Amino acid sequence: MEKILFLAHTDANGLLPKSAFETLNAALEIQKGLAGSTLSVGLVGGNVQAAADSIASCGAAKMFGVSGADFGVSRYATDVKALEAIGAASGATILVAPATSRFSRALPGAAFRLKAAIDTHVSGIQFTDGVLQIQRWYYRQRMMATLTRAARPWILAVDSGVFQPWQGAKGSAKVEAITVIVSDKEKRTKVTGVEAPSADAQTIRPDAVVLLVAGAGWTKKQADGQTHAKEAEKHILDFLKYAKASLGSSKSLVDQGSEGEAVLSFMSHLNQVGQTGSTPRHPKGLSTCCHGEEPHVVGWRFINERRAINTDANCGWAQGKADVLYVADAFAVMAKVNELLAKG
Ligand SMILES: Cc1cc2nc3c(=O)[nH]c(=O)nc-3n(C[C@H](O)[C@H](O)[C@H](O)COP(=O)(O)OP(=O)(O)OC[C@H]3O[C@@H](n4cnc5c(N)ncnc54)[C@H](O)[C@@H]3O)c2cc1C
Repeated sequence: MEKILFLAHTDANGLLPKSAFETLNAALEIQKGLAGSTLSVGLVGGNVQAAADSIASCGAAKMFGVSGADFGVSRYATDVKALEAIGAASGATILVAPATSRFSRALPGAAFRLKAAIDTHVSGIQFTDGVLQIQRWYYRQRMMATLTRAARPWILAVDSGVFQPWQGAKGSAKVEAITVIVSDKEKRTKVTGVEAPSADAQTIRPDAVVLLVAGAGWTKKQADGQTHAKEAEKHILDFLKYAKASLGSSKSLVDQGSEGEAVLSFMSHLNQVGQTGSTPRHPKGLSTCCHGEEPHVVGWRFINERRAINTDANCGWAQGKADVLYVADAFAVMAKVNELLAKG
């Protein structure tokens, strides 16, 4: 009989991040699929009571908590100890955790200490003849594997955006506190503050419905023989503002800054989508002034509905990579789109 443990940590407000609610649904699905299995919860944070209360009705048989000032911040040494302690106390055979940056750092260490197997970037689960199988992508999202493991404990770090967030009634949860002693040496890493861009400068929005991708064409000479980088910036930023979209880029465009060419000031390598960039998840994507080369498009794996605007009717998007290709000038199209969006 499998003992499933859902793991989560609190955020800066002492609550659970969205990806934790998504992963809770994954854990519940696993419990449902494995006959006779039980579900427990393990929480790490400064104070985990509010987080526990928020999922009080999830059906967990037990909730474990490691809390206190030492666990309020993300730190490998203390997180790994907390996860190890919860894993041991619960006796879990399958541990399911969100792949947040905090847990992604600590889970492999916890796996080592618990003598567990771990799979990261889990992007799907299924059951075949009562056996749990997970899905994960390899080779920069070019190959998808379905796999299972006999090894226990088995830790699964679940990617965000795959499962619907769990929704259920709040309540008052009973949390079994686990005491974890931390030495001064283990606390020598100190979080002194958080540096985050202001909301306006924040162009990467994983929860956005639309991903707008900008390509190098925005900074190339246009029909009048001139470049129009400032105008391009305005069209792109207006669209991000009106559509609350996330911003992606082709490699060529983000590389231009280091090559001394005209650049879009808000664009960095973090925006790059593709084989050597990121693989964002959004329901819709709009590619503008980008050719649609294979090393770029491979990063569109998880974009469901794809549209592109390119003046070149033979660009890569026309080769079956987009659902709709507008053969048009992106400057003109985006100006019109923004005008319509501004009207609401
Ligand atoms: C190993 C390897 C890994 C790579 N990894 C990545 C990666 O992760 N991500 C990535 O993006 N690339 C990657 N590349 C590079 C990739 O192959 C392409 O070179 C790059 O994506 C091209 O960027 P682009 O389409 O913006 O620029 P370009 O190829 O210069 O295309 C610009 C496009 O803009 C169009 N255009 C110009 N003006 C307008 C206008 N007014 N309206 C509409 N359209 C217009 C043009 O028709 C043209 O198609 C990789 C390459 C290699 C070899």
